[in-house]
Amino acid sequence: MRNLSDKVVVITGGNSGIGKAAAQLFAKEGAQVVITGRRQDALDSVVKEIGSNTIGICGDVADISHHNAVADEVQRKFGRLDVYMANAGYIHLTSTDAVSVEEYDRHFAINTRGVFFGVQAIAPLLGAGSNIILTSSMAATKVLDNHAVYAGSKAAIAAFARNWALEFKAQGIRVNVLSPGPIETPILSKLGVAETEQPRFLEMMAGMIPAGRLGRAEEVAEAALFLASASGSFVNGVELIVDGGMALT
Ligand code: NAD
Repeated sequence: MRNLSDKVVVITGGNSGIGKAAAQLFAKEGAQVVITGRRQDALDSVVKEIGSNTIGICGDVADISHHNAVADEVQRKFGRLDVYMANAGYIHLTSTDAVSVEEYDRHFAINTRGVFFGVQAIAPLLGAGSNIILTSSMAATKVLDNHAVYAGSKAAIAAFARNWALEFKAQGIRVNVLSPGPIETPILSKLGVAETEQPRFLEMMAGMIPAGRLGRAEEVAEAALFLASASGSFVNGVELIVDGGMALT
């Protein structure tokens, strides 16, 4: 049921962290994987690592023309798409009084607008039995210190998914949200937490999780595979929270 043989998958931000783990797992399950990201060298190295069933497309999800280029390339190379995982994301923790207009716009351009126009560009390539996975965050629903802008930019994702699950029903496209809690990926070193504070911050996060530890990218990738594959064929319009139970605390 979890096999993705001959499925064509696009994963935005597939050159790092959760996106990379999903790309590796999906390829292992037989998918043709297209990963996108901003850094060509990181894309090249992940494509090389995964192998011949992977291609990389460099670009910025905040740039609408990038999404059209991805759709054009997928159409040209495969003629269709089976799974679109909108995973690229940005976070910089700041208290509300210190949020600049530029930082506000950056969060929404990447986390919100980038998802919306990515789906708009790619939806015509998705057919019956296909699905969309939108990566949000448990921070969209749980209040955490200095998360207001990030949480706001991710909160829109659940609303997009609920609307699209009905809007795309005639095409047979399922749409679900994947909301990780704190996961050990490179994003944790880009939060804006001072390097000296980093160990205390991560320990504090782990202490809020019933599992007593942060999650691993591979654990989120497994949840993504469930949604992407036939295992999740009757799952539509839901938010799957993968946080070791942190939302409960
Ligand atoms: P990561 O930093 O390892 O990966 C982020 C990816 O997004 C990278 O591939 C990066 O190139 C890409 N990206 C960022 N800005 C981009 C842009 N403008 N254009 C194109 N690509 C861009 O982090 P991650 O933890 O793997 O994050 C993946 C997703 O999971 C993000 O949406 C993030 O918000 C979400 N998330 C992560 C955590 C966590 O604790 N790691 C928790 C909740 C949600």
